[in-house]
Amino acid sequence: MIVEQIWTGNAYRNFNYLIACPESGEAMAIDPLDYEKCLGLAKDRGWEITQILNTHEHGDHTGGNKPMIEATGARLLAHKNAKDSIDGIDVGLAAGDVVHVGRSVELLALDTPGHTMSHVCLLSQTDTPGLFCGDTLFNAGAGNCHGGGHPEQLYETFSQQLNELPESTLVYPGHDYITNNLEFTLDREPGNSSAAALLEDLKANHDPDHALITSLAQEKEINAFFRLTSPAVIARLREAFPDLPDDPSAREVFIKLRELRNQW
Ligand SMILES: [Zn+2]
Ligand SMILES: [Zn+2]
Repeated sequence: MIVEQIWTGNAYRNFNYLIACPESGEAMAIDPLDYEKCLGLAKDRGWEITQILNTHEHGDHTGGNKPMIEATGARLLAHKNAKDSIDGIDVGLAAGDVVHVGRSVELLALDTPGHTMSHVCLLSQTDTPGLFCGDTLFNAGAGNCHGGGHPEQLYETFSQQLNELPESTLVYPGHDYITNNLEFTLDREPGNSSAAALLEDLKANHDPDHALITSLAQEKEINAFFRLTSPAVIARLREAFPDLPDDPSAREVFIKLRELRNQW
C-alpha cells in the first residue's frame, strides 16, 4: 500500500489522501476536495483513480466528488446511511466491509459515529495499520459534534473502537489541526511534557505539506481525548465544572472536554 497525504492549503486546512496498489497502479481518493491536486499527483505517479471514499457528508469532504468522477469515472463509496446526504453513492459501507484497492490493498470499514452519525473510517490491513479517520480523530484532538453528531456516540467510538486498535496504528486525519489541538491538551494538562515538546518542535518546523504522521501510541500521550483518567486532566476539569464527581467516569471526562473544546 502506498499512501500520499495531500495538503490542500485551504482555509479549512483539509488533508486529502490517495491510497494506491503498487502492483496494479489503481488508487482510491479519500475526501478529494482538492480534486485538481489529487488528479495531478495520480497522473505524476501513473496511477488510475478508480474509487472515491467519503468519510462523511460534510461539504469540505464531498465537494470534489463531481469533478473527480467526471475526470475518472471512479465509483463512490460512503457510509450506507449517507445516501440521502451524499449524491451518487455507488457502494454503501457498513462496519466490517472490506474495501479492495487494486490487487494488494485491503481496507476494513469501521462505523464511527460521533462527528456525524454516518461517518466511516478505513483501517488498512497492513503490518503497520493505517487509520483514515476523517473528522473523527485528529492529531491531538477529536472531531466536533455540532454538524449533526453527538458527543456520547463520539465517546463510544473512541472508547470501543479507536482505543482498541494496535498502538502502532498510523493516524491519517481529515484536517491539519495539530498545533491548536496541542495547545488545548496543554491548557488541560500543563505538565504534559510530550505535548509540550512536540508543540515546541512544530512551532519551529510545522509544514503541512510534510506533516507529522502520529501513531495511536503517541496520540495516547498527547491527545486530551485519550487521557480521560489522568489525575491532572480531571483536577483541571473540576476548575471549570465544580460539580464533577470525585471519581468521574471516562465518559463524563470526555463529554466535558468536548464541551470545553467547543468554546476554547
Ligand atoms: Zn466534518
Ligand atoms: Zn472536515
